[in-house]
Amino acid sequence: MTAVRITGLAGAPRDVAAETLDAFARDLDGEVIHPDDDGYADAISLWNGMIKKRPAVVIRPAGTPDVVRTVDFVREHELELSIKGAGHNIAGLALTDGGITLDMSGLKGVVVDAERQMARVGPGCTLGDVDRATQEHGLATTLGFVSATGVAGLTLGGGFGYLTRRFGWTVDDLEEVEIVTADGAVRRASRTENEDLFWALRGGGGNFGVATEFVFRLHEVGPQVTSGVIAWPASEADGVLDLYRTVVESAPRELTAVVVRRNAPPAPWLPEAAHGTPIIMLVVCHSGTLEQAQADLAPIKSHGEPLADMLLVRDYVAQQSLLDATQPKGMHFYWKSEFLPGLSDELFETYNAQFADLKAPANQIVLFHVAGALNEHPEDDGAMGNREAAFACVIQSMWPGDSPAGDANRDWVRSAWQALKAYSTGGNYVNFQTADEADERTVESYRGNYSRLEAVKAKYDPSNLFRGNRNIRP
Ligand SMILES: Cc1cc2nc3c(=O)[nH]c(=O)nc-3n(C[C@H](O)[C@H](O)[C@H](O)COP(=O)(O)OP(=O)(O)OC[C@H]3O[C@@H](n4cnc5c(N)ncnc54)[C@H](O)[C@@H]3O)c2cc1C
Repeated sequence: MTAVRITGLAGAPRDVAAETLDAFARDLDGEVIHPDDDGYADAISLWNGMIKKRPAVVIRPAGTPDVVRTVDFVREHELELSIKGAGHNIAGLALTDGGITLDMSGLKGVVVDAERQMARVGPGCTLGDVDRATQEHGLATTLGFVSATGVAGLTLGGGFGYLTRRFGWTVDDLEEVEIVTADGAVRRASRTENEDLFWALRGGGGNFGVATEFVFRLHEVGPQVTSGVIAWPASEADGVLDLYRTVVESAPRELTAVVVRRNAPPAPWLPEAAHGTPIIMLVVCHSGTLEQAQADLAPIKSHGEPLADMLLVRDYVAQQSLLDATQPKGMHFYWKSEFLPGLSDELFETYNAQFADLKAPANQIVLFHVAGALNEHPEDDGAMGNREAAFACVIQSMWPGDSPAGDANRDWVRSAWQALKAYSTGGNYVNFQTADEADERTVESYRGNYSRLEAVKAKYDPSNLFRGNRNIRP
């Protein structure tokens, strides 16, 4: 009898009889992809090209019953499982090396109830899928800045975007989740059903099961917003950062502004002479009335002599994919993040100092303004916490896989992070953690909410079946 080697729950390989695996595969309505199959390379491709993992088998479920069959199978045979949404997680958590990957990306589908302002969202949807469907009704929920990102991973880790100042973390608009837990049960979790599980799902990651449906509350947004990018030479950084602080101090919640300092990409909207030179940009989204936006953005548009001003009236859906090209799939990426409580002169000085030796042209440090609605909830309203965050600071590096610059880039990110960590709330975003970050970083993400997460984990996944994530141990 032949056997297939599959990585077990404890990390060591286990032999599963080929007949057993075949019988499991025959039971599924969906697709089973083996390493020799044509679709395998596509099924294991991730946004971060740095991650190389080869699952023994990839399952593409046709629906929730296949998810239950897969969870039952890996539990009974004590096999390592990973769950793939859109494969955007920087640490490559979507894949397992040698285990079984449940690829949920085919389970798309968005049903919008415009009257009740709610959307039911399949676990394979990208942010773009949801934004396009909800915007047909002039509605939106808070999703992130790059449209190819998966809704499932983003939501389970907390989620933020241009609408966070108005409506809070993505999980503040999460109403319900359907989930297959480690015992193979299909449960619904909401504020009135399996409340403890729902609390944990609002930021606690993929630790509690396989989410098979999300229900979000929607708000009237757009469909047109005033938004885009405005850039100045980095020699103007002090003035632009002062302007930024002044603007965000009095900005209505409809206005979200993001600072990015880096070298200019060879983008057509920037003058050719500026390509490759140091710049500082504001990425802006104003989702209030067009008149209000004009007034609120006037100080930004009249500041100094911008290299380019692309702050325009555009569709919200277009704004939600404006940054897509800056994050091309397959490059090597390395990030660090911290939440910040505010902006100070010392922080700006430290921020600017990191650009003395940038190492790679696409390296950048981003400050996202998130203060507003999220701060009005108590710290323990959902596992995400981090309710004192006013800014998310992300230090990002990107390089082609064949470049020898990887180590230098990682060192640059780590060194900038060490310097900027001094201004942190003490919290960081679990969804931005890289593969080499220690467990303490996960504890730091949740801080006061961590022990409650451990208790929910012990109740719903005592054998830690769902460990292919920033793992909360039971
Ligand atoms: C370019 C880029 C931009 C980003 N911008 C933002 C942003 O603006 N705001 C923001 O909040 N985040 C942002 N992120 C971070 C993003 O939220 C995380 O990378 C998230 O993990 C991506 O989700 P995914 O489904 O694509 O990931 P995957 O890599 O597929 O999965 C990520 C994790 O979620 C788990 N998971 C996925 N689907 C399920 C499921 N159905 N059930 C249970 N667990 C599941 C996986 O097991 C894994 O642990 C960005 C990431 C990238 C790469």
